[in-house]
Amino acid sequence: MSDASVYVHIPFCKSRCAYCDFTSFTSIGMISDYTSALIREIKKASETQSRLRVPTVFIGGGTPSLLLPEQLIQIFEALRSGFEIDENAEITIEANPGTLSESFLKAAKDCGVNRISMGVQAWQPRLLEILGRIHRQKEVTESADLLSKLGFDNWNADLMMGLPTQTTDELFESIDVMKTLGAKHLSCYSLILEDGTRLFGDVRSGKYRMQTDEQDREMYRSMTEYMGKLGYHQYEISNFAYPDMECRHNLIYWRRKPYIGFGCAAASQVGNRRYKNTASLADYISGVSAHCEEETISVREAEKETVMLSLRLREGITDEKLLKKLAPYTKPLTDGGFMEHSGKALRLTKTGMDVMDEIIVRLWEGLDAIS
Ligand code: SF4
Repeated sequence: MSDASVYVHIPFCKSRCAYCDFTSFTSIGMISDYTSALIREIKKASETQSRLRVPTVFIGGGTPSLLLPEQLIQIFEALRSGFEIDENAEITIEANPGTLSESFLKAAKDCGVNRISMGVQAWQPRLLEILGRIHRQKEVTESADLLSKLGFDNWNADLMMGLPTQTTDELFESIDVMKTLGAKHLSCYSLILEDGTRLFGDVRSGKYRMQTDEQDREMYRSMTEYMGKLGYHQYEISNFAYPDMECRHNLIYWRRKPYIGFGCAAASQVGNRRYKNTASLADYISGVSAHCEEETISVREAEKETVMLSLRLREGITDEKLLKKLAPYTKPLTDGGFMEHSGKALRLTKTGMDVMDEIIVRLWEGLDAIS
């Protein structure tokens, strides 16, 4: 029996956030048809491949907390009958404040969900307004209270930094509040302004101004330091956790382990093959769930991905064969204080993290130079 993690995409949201360019739709009347299509896809996959052992499951979105409890239960019934989900599997559901109900969480608990990831993004109403989020502070505290009442003590809050008009003190305040509410894990990503989003238009029209790269970097440095002071250790460039509370599912991606994705636009990677489902909701629901994009990853591409993903992690590059190949190119970086040895692994130093992209390009060029 081989191992693969499972991702299930629920691409529906009450409304589009101002910065969002993910695959998500506001046609929530279609969730029922979508759930049926999802279950068909899960059943078909489990019938056509050897039985898989699943160490982690992640139900992401979109806003999975828009599912009705019975829809969630049906999805888990299909997953559990098709796959061997580990007894101690990490099972996460993403949820957005303002959409989380007690009945949903109770159903999630019954399905074996043991981790919640909440899209909080910021604590300050002004910033939530800029981001076009549907929730305000009250919904965040109510959701956190519900999690605690129902015994979900392993939960993450997604936060954003580098927002127009955001100060470092405001970011610290958001972190403080999440800690007080009980978050054991914090993800903190810089805002990326995507062409075609509402926020893109707001910035172009001069309504808001983005932070400069230097301001964003400065905020990042202060944030990582502050997280450490509060006991959240950095295990990935944008992810922080109390000891042993790292997200095991995301580590699967960063360590290039196999995963299978179900749902509209979901991606899968098994061995040297990667494929993606259609991003058209209508096609997906009508059964065109065949992988619409497929690629075979060459050994060199796999090595380059390993470099890029491993350097995001505090554990660094652990693949001994790869480290041997890279040695002539990593030596100047360790000598220059950009990389350091940690046991048998090689990772970025704090200085190296600031120039991660350049280091990745340099190591890729090194790999390309090896015939
Ligand atoms: S909740 Fe997430 S997926 Fe949905 S619109 Fe907002 S950013 Fe996009």
